[in-house]
Amino acid sequence: MKPKPITATTLVWLQRCARRIWLDRHGDAAQRVATDPVLQHQIARGHAHEEAIVAAQFAQRHPLVATAWPELVAETLAAMQSGVPALHQGALEVQAHDDMILCGSPDLLFRVEQPSQLGAWSYAPVEIKLHREPRPDDQLQLAFYRWMLGMLQGNVPEGELWLGFDAATHQPLQKVRQTKPPHVQPWLDLLTTVRTGDEAPINFSRQCSYCHWRNACEQEATQRQDIALLGQLDRRTAAALRKAGLTNLAALVQLTAEQLAAYPHVGPKRAVQLLSHAHALLRGAPYPHSAAAMRLPPAALFLDIESHPVTQMPWAFGWMDASGQRGSFVVVPQRPRQAPARLDIAGSSVSFVPDAAAGWQALAALVAAQEGVIIHWGHYERQMLQQDATPSVQDALSERMIDLQRKITQAYSFPIARGAGNGATTLKAIGGYLGYTWPAAANWAAAWDAYHQWCQQLATVRTQQQPWADAIDTTLADGLAYLMSDVVALHGVWQWLQNNAAA
Ligand code: SF4
Repeated sequence: MKPKPITATTLVWLQRCARRIWLDRHGDAAQRVATDPVLQHQIARGHAHEEAIVAAQFAQRHPLVATAWPELVAETLAAMQSGVPALHQGALEVQAHDDMILCGSPDLLFRVEQPSQLGAWSYAPVEIKLHREPRPDDQLQLAFYRWMLGMLQGNVPEGELWLGFDAATHQPLQKVRQTKPPHVQPWLDLLTTVRTGDEAPINFSRQCSYCHWRNACEQEATQRQDIALLGQLDRRTAAALRKAGLTNLAALVQLTAEQLAAYPHVGPKRAVQLLSHAHALLRGAPYPHSAAAMRLPPAALFLDIESHPVTQMPWAFGWMDASGQRGSFVVVPQRPRQAPARLDIAGSSVSFVPDAAAGWQALAALVAAQEGVIIHWGHYERQMLQQDATPSVQDALSERMIDLQRKITQAYSFPIARGAGNGATTLKAIGGYLGYTWPAAANWAAAWDAYHQWCQQLATVRTQQQPWADAIDTTLADGLAYLMSDVVALHGVWQWLQNNAAA
């Protein structure tokens, strides 16, 4: 039987999770699930970005016409042998061993004047990414293509990552060169070891939501009451616990906090959190970390921000005040002249601001006359305040902001298993446990797409109030509904903590 080809994606998954590789070889294919909708959005955005960069810079690239893989491999090799300047999405194939075929399709192959088996030239790969900073996955993917090219042309080229997008020039924001020899052979050896070894353990991570085994792993972990269900369990801690035979929650809670704290990457604080979470999961009810959680100060505002998926620049600030009044500030960089600055959409006030700094300014004005703190979830809001607000607004708001996620997870563990899709301490997880809901199929990526599409529509709508409202109703409303669901859940979780805390 012809061996299944190994691609850069295979090695990227090996780097992320050995179990994924093991299941790809030994798992029941019927348990695989379709690509996550958020990932589909990201893939589509990545392709559009790559096309934009390539179209802007390489209108004259050599066209490849074959569609079937074997013909595309032959066509790519022929084009390289003839010395064309550049190839987009060429197809490379290398027989690494008798039972190992490597396949790859670099975003770009550039001719460089470095002699090789092809002639007085050779080719160097470029990978184009929408994100701005290089990631380990990118580096491994590029190293893989360089290594393949080394086998095909007899010399190993350097490679480049083209990262981010400058809308003004249609250029990448930065080009990161990779020059060190690509160490791919150790990854191929590890691949063989994992594929032929024992079942790899479950280690949930953010990458799991992109994995086709996510449902299978969640079912397996739940059935076994596996320690992988614990939030904040470091992979290295999990490995040490498994080695000691502590593979499930019932076994783990036999440890004292002091015993657990002695395991790698635990310590006294995390030991209490892990044990509390294990107790909460076993009992099916919230479990306090100590005798009394403290009540938070009165709240002036509940705040949630939606931001650009890559730049993290806010595009909408959703809020609810102490009286329950709700609203949002939506960033509109080029608001048509005479267009209204505020609209009421589905009982909520929507105001428009020209940029993120103005959004923060509007929030500061909203709470200026009110006593109380600003409740938000996680560290992003504070990070964005520092990134985008003026110094005077930072001074006015910084001391008043309270991260509810931090406060509630310091006080309680919830019977929410860490899974393949979500962490156990996200707003969706804790809010969902307490009964709060979000619109079906809504997520941050879909909300961003709705906003992005709406901005494009604004270029064509007239300036009277009604067309604005129509455009919001038809396009942006779903994104704002998602944002408001976050704000309502934020308020609900805060209320739960206040009700269950000591005065
Ligand atoms: S769902 Fe997560 S733990 Fe399971 S195989 Fe995929 S990446 Fe690994």
